[in-house]
Amino acid sequence: MNIIMLGAQGTGKGTVASAICEQTGMLQISTGDIFRKNISEKTPLGIEADKYISKGNLVPDEITVPMVEDRLTWDDAKNGVILDGFPRTIEQAKKLDEILNAKGEKIDLVINLVTPKDEIIDRMLTRRVCTNPDCKATYNVKLHPPIKEGICDKCGSPLKQRDDDSNPEAIKRRLEIYEEKTSPLVEYYKNKGVLRTETVSISINRMGKDVANDIVKDIKK
Ligand code: ADP
Ligand code: ZN
Repeated sequence: MNIIMLGAQGTGKGTVASAICEQTGMLQISTGDIFRKNISEKTPLGIEADKYISKGNLVPDEITVPMVEDRLTWDDAKNGVILDGFPRTIEQAKKLDEILNAKGEKIDLVINLVTPKDEIIDRMLTRRVCTNPDCKATYNVKLHPPIKEGICDKCGSPLKQRDDDSNPEAIKRRLEIYEEKTSPLVEYYKNKGVLRTETVSISINRMGKDVANDIVKDIKK
């Protein structure tokens, strides 16, 4: 089974994906996490990707698509994956279809997370990430704080705010790109009959964990 997480920044794609993975043993592939790991290790890929990421722009397909294609061939991806942050454009979605087609696979489910805009910006500003690139746990100082301030519950490393989350220009740019380039994917996957839209909002007391639990129940049916 292959799943895609869709939704604007700060809707909780990563949270939902990791909760589903924990309960099903599926593998989460987050393109943002792979880029951040490469940036912190100063690999050539990281140095190149950072030129785009720091400004809130998309990393070009020539870098992103082969990176995902390669990751999908690893042994741990055999039992199905949850793609978090990919595809982000119609072109990437078409490439992904080709890659999966060639292996006799397909996208089975697209989880489209929707959150009110004012909440989204607040959630991006209050998001904190673990600085250990092998852990990557995320927190929210308001909604989901760590037990000890500034320290990761899972691995004890310091937490920090992502550079692109502390830069208002980059936040604005990312949300614009989402509207323009990524939101057409909702229609694309709706037409394929695999779209499942879920609202995540404090106003209706429905958070990422609740969505993940409902989806896992349905998957196991
Ligand atoms: P967010 O969804 O909050 O922007 P991500 O962690 O998913 O955060 O991605 C961080 C950055 O990495 C993006 O702003 C973008 O620059 C880059 N990126 C991630 N996934 C892709 C992708 N599929 N295509 C192009 N760039 C990507
Ligand atoms: Zn950690």
